[in-house]
Amino acid sequence: MNVSTTSVESLSSDLSLISAHSHISGLGLDDNLQPRANSQGMVGQLKARRAAGIILKMIQQGKIAGRAALIAGPPSTGKTAIAMGLSQSLGDDVPFTSIAGSEIFSLELSKTEALTQAFRKSIGIKIKEETELIEGEVVEIQIDRSVTGGHKQGKLTIKTTDMETIYELGNKMIESLQREKIIAGDIISIDKASGKISKLGRSFTRARDYDAMGPETKFVQCPEGELQVRKEVVHTVSLHEIDVINSRSQGFLALFSGDTGEIRAEVRDQINTKVAEWKEEGKAEICPGVLFIDEVHMLDIECFSYLNRALEDEFSPIVIMATNRGISKIRGTSYKSPHGLPMDLLDRSIIIRTECYSSLDIQQILSIRSKEEEVDLTEDALALLTKIGTETSIRYASNLISVSNQIAVKRRSNTVGIEDIKKSYILFLDSDRSVQFLEDNRLQYIDDQGNVNLNVNV
Ligand code: ATP
Repeated sequence: MNVSTTSVESLSSDLSLISAHSHISGLGLDDNLQPRANSQGMVGQLKARRAAGIILKMIQQGKIAGRAALIAGPPSTGKTAIAMGLSQSLGDDVPFTSIAGSEIFSLELSKTEALTQAFRKSIGIKIKEETELIEGEVVEIQIDRSVTGGHKQGKLTIKTTDMETIYELGNKMIESLQREKIIAGDIISIDKASGKISKLGRSFTRARDYDAMGPETKFVQCPEGELQVRKEVVHTVSLHEIDVINSRSQGFLALFSGDTGEIRAEVRDQINTKVAEWKEEGKAEICPGVLFIDEVHMLDIECFSYLNRALEDEFSPIVIMATNRGISKIRGTSYKSPHGLPMDLLDRSIIIRTECYSSLDIQQILSIRSKEEEVDLTEDALALLTKIGTETSIRYASNLISVSNQIAVKRRSNTVGIEDIKKSYILFLDSDRSVQFLEDNRLQYIDDQGNVNLNVNV
């Protein structure tokens, strides 16, 4: 099977993200965007979650596009978890693309093409389509309303799932229109309570005529001919999907293999023009989503300059980046900079800081993780695991949950006890102990030059 390396890489990174953060179902905020102490799988990190909540609100209101936010903090402080929580809270209608900085470097695509694809995957296009009426579906009966005197155009919508009611209602309205000898171009009023339609004349000259009728009355401009019964279906696709479908060299099947190759700039220009036309005609809505770039310090200076430019494009998503680097080298240069990011990109980003966890936070996260993995821990086992998590990392302690469970199963126990945790701690090293071991036994290993320095006295 011809599956590209890029698609396999992104698939495996998606899978690992799902398992590491599968306990997270949102940012754990209340209606006022205040973080709850322990909610939706999220614990602690209150300031960063509140900040992410504000960004979430702005995205939902469609107020921002083309902005960058950087989540910066030490390793294992929940930067990716917060991005995942944001993605869950956004729901299915807002595209969320997640990549790791290192994924950009592939033999098949240039760095900028890979980034362009990631950007365009993060822009949703809601396309509206009218379809045939099918029995049992929710439909809308619409009469276009257009009132002079500065009032906006609107719709009268009656929603029902029952076809008989729809036709009964529709016929009554048509009868009523005929009885009143209403013709196209007439202004009519519909009493909301009784549904009674009456003719008001051909046009309104003053806005106050309209206002004087009170809120129970709605005005409609009689449509050409008759009442329309129609159903509107909305499909959301990404700009990238439209690119691929229209790229003659690839075709839509490439969407399944992920093997899209480079897409020509002219194709993208044409799509941009078309989408702008659809938007103008009311057929489509542009929905800027989120592009999450984890380990953003892995990008190089060319990618950063691309990001700066792409953020100014009319079709730009919100870019959320995460890094655990302090002052470090910008890849592709010999300069050092905060978080390994160029100053101009930092300057245009809003920065959210994550902080190290308290042992209570760590205990709660580990407890949530063990429930997620359906592993029962005794109180002592959780306390020891928390101690290990505090002294090593949440990730290491989290990994010990499943291996300790295997050890418990082997001794035919359904519950992981302190002895299982101790055994797994001895069997599996954390990074500090592994480094220590290497330093102590340096001579037994092959060095950078390929030399083996066995410390054997001959
Ligand atoms: P790195 O800098 O090493 O990439 P990170 O800051 O992105 O680390 P995460 O991967 O988000 O850290 O966190 C490590 C693990 O701890 C994950 O399984 C994550 O889901 C979990 N976790 C971190 N913070 C929280 C939190 N506040 N609530 C619940 N789970 C969390």
